[in-house]
Amino acid sequence: MHKTAFIWSDSYLDYSFPGTHPFKSLRESMAKRLMEERSFFHELDVLKPQPATRQELEIAHDRSYIDQVKMLSDIGQGMLDEGDTPVFKGIYESALIRVGGSISALKSIDSGYQHAINIGGGFHHAKRSRAEGFCVFNDVAIIAKIAEKKYRTAIVDIDGHHGDGTEELLKNDNILKVSLHMFHRGFFPGTGNLEDNDEKTVNIPLPPGTADDAYLLAFNEIAMPILEEYRPELLIIMEGGDSHFDDPLVELKLSTHGYLNVIKELHSLSHKVSGKIILLGGGGYNYDATARTWVISIAELTGIQSIEVDTLHDCCNTFSSPFVMEKVKDTIQKIKQVRKNLAH
Ligand SMILES: [Zn+2]
Ligand SMILES: [Zn+2]
Repeated sequence: MHKTAFIWSDSYLDYSFPGTHPFKSLRESMAKRLMEERSFFHELDVLKPQPATRQELEIAHDRSYIDQVKMLSDIGQGMLDEGDTPVFKGIYESALIRVGGSISALKSIDSGYQHAINIGGGFHHAKRSRAEGFCVFNDVAIIAKIAEKKYRTAIVDIDGHHGDGTEELLKNDNILKVSLHMFHRGFFPGTGNLEDNDEKTVNIPLPPGTADDAYLLAFNEIAMPILEEYRPELLIIMEGGDSHFDDPLVELKLSTHGYLNVIKELHSLSHKVSGKIILLGGGGYNYDATARTWVISIAELTGIQSIEVDTLHDCCNTFSSPFVMEKVKDTIQKIKQVRKNLAH
């Protein structure tokens, strides 16, 4: 068993957009229930987060933007971006508690926990002075900026979308960023292609239809060797559930087995260095698939093995078409070439 903290506040459920908006906190409550039913909380310590302070927000965000969010949140009306992130009353406070959760996860690592989990975190699209893609404040960038002072830090982002806000906010920081995501013309956010790669930025753009086999090939051929060489003392994993084959917004085709494979590799890599892992949530618009994926990953990190956990899996691994497989292999070669050029 690896000493694991699970950061949770019932206030997380307040961060949920009304009406037909796809981002719902039902994912978090479903995951929590699946964990309760399987007696996870005998093995994990539940820690309650404090809301992020103004000073903590300012690590990544402009004062005027923070003020604007607070003002609109009090009114309870308006838009925080061009249309994806509508204001609801109290969105400011509910974002603060979730960002505070990721900061608490980092603090619990500092105080001796090996692994810390905040499924309420993972808002990788938020920029310095604007919201984007359902994300108000970028907890991933905030904790990475705090952590880099202490640990050689890497972020691995397996959300189905490119972590554009995180990449932008950490451009000048000494942090390795690896992102696997769907990349396709017209697909949000439109960044994260190969030309954005540099020594510390590893984007692995994947075509629609990428399933377990091709995804894991790209992960093992590109992400793992780079991470093994970097030897992160702290690994921040952003596990959006929207790379799953049942997700309505992203056309990647990962199964829970594919996800678990990635988490297992990262878990074992981390223990070769320090074992310090922070697992954050992220997107995920099939609520059931997202909740199951998270719980399976939490079981892996915590060392919980049971038939009750096995029942959460999808039936089988998924397979890419030959066309998609060829495209991914081609991308792998291109990234290797880009890395070679950077090394010279
Ligand atoms: Zn462990
Ligand atoms: Zn996403």
